[in-house]
Amino acid sequence: MSERNATASEHNATTPATGAAHAADGADDYAARYGEALLPVFGAPQKVLARGEGVHVWDTEGTQYLDLLAGIAVNTLGHAHPALLAALSKQAETLGHVSNFFASAPQIELAEKLLELSGAPAGSGVFFANSGTEANEAAFKIARRTGRPRILALANSFHGRTMGALALTSKEAYRAPFEPLPGGVEFLEAGDEQALADALAPGDVAAVFAEPIQGEAGVRPLAPEYLRALRRLTREHGTLLILDEVQTGIGRTGHWFAHQAVEGVQPDVMTLAKGLGGGFPIGAVISMGPAVHDLLQPGQHGTTFGGNPLAAAAGLAVLGTLAEDDLLAHVRRVGAGFTRDVLALDHPLVEGVRGAGLLLGVALRAPLAKEVAAEALAAGFIVNAPDPSTLRLAPPLIITEAELATFTAALPGLLEAVSARAAADADPALEGEH
Ligand SMILES: *Cc1c(COP(=O)(O)O)cnc(C)c1O
Repeated sequence: MSERNATASEHNATTPATGAAHAADGADDYAARYGEALLPVFGAPQKVLARGEGVHVWDTEGTQYLDLLAGIAVNTLGHAHPALLAALSKQAETLGHVSNFFASAPQIELAEKLLELSGAPAGSGVFFANSGTEANEAAFKIARRTGRPRILALANSFHGRTMGALALTSKEAYRAPFEPLPGGVEFLEAGDEQALADALAPGDVAAVFAEPIQGEAGVRPLAPEYLRALRRLTREHGTLLILDEVQTGIGRTGHWFAHQAVEGVQPDVMTLAKGLGGGFPIGAVISMGPAVHDLLQPGQHGTTFGGNPLAAAAGLAVLGTLAEDDLLAHVRRVGAGFTRDVLALDHPLVEGVRGAGLLLGVALRAPLAKEVAAEALAAGFIVNAPDPSTLRLAPPLIITEAELATFTAALPGLLEAVSARAAADADPALEGEH
């Protein structure tokens, strides 16, 4: 961080901040220009990427990477998939944007498709947004419209960064700088059925928000029994069960939606985004059944871009390709193979593999995940560390077993390089021995 700032201010001193001067700087000045032109919200980017195809991306230096993160579970079909390109260019040539004063065929078709795939009962409906946080904002407003004051979310939740979604997000470091947040949200330990029953008992809880697998918390699945208890107890108390499938939806776990792996669990509201547009921004809220259908009345919510024909065409291409290429079964098979192969490494640093399908967390026995992710990047693999001891993989769903196996094969070397360095740092005397 401070290194980057130093570079940026040096650059500032010698170069007038004009577009023309920037262009003349040449391609290798991107890091400094990023520091000057973008707000420092994300920290220094790891690389400047220039191009992608299939499961690979290339940076501006021409280095190739196996993309095992897919823009954080977004590039469902990988990069530059022909079906997505064809759908987007055809739609762009036909009709790009219309506002919600008008409807478009792709928007209606995508809504119908989502209702079908989610098994939504008669009287269900879709609201389109542009991102995960916006989908959760809409769900939050739906919850408020029940008239009940309290909302429950789970410890370690992540629901987004806008004020409402942030109120549902448990991480103190994300919340504290922006208080006061919309009120009424309480957090429960995931897995504690008694706490859930106690919290719901007064009958004044509007909704419970939960992620079937807590992705940002380190790929931590809710136990199926707990998910069933969530469904049963919320129904008993007339509380909405709102499942945030922003990260877990759209085939990511080998099911259209992760909750479909657990029989008898259908939410009242489901939110989607990330993988739905295959890289084109889109979010969606599905209200399941007549009881939730009319909680948002005409005029009570809206968005300029939501359900835009381009975004909807992207969504249709993603869902169509997943079905045509039988990718859900593929995701289950490749994910299970990866888990088996990583466990077979029997590496002392690897505690296990969490997750489902191609949303995978390799649990380490030491808080070295950031270092391993950096080592992986240097070796040509993009993964990330959602927590200090978890490596997350969320590759394009088209990845083959052979492609993923190149990472499994490299993993012991990456782990050893990092643990050797950690040992040397802890005991500088060891350094000389290398
Ligand atoms: C990423 C994510 C969000 C927020 O989505 P954005 O598109 O970044 O706003 C919300 N919920 C979950 C579970 C997510 O993984």
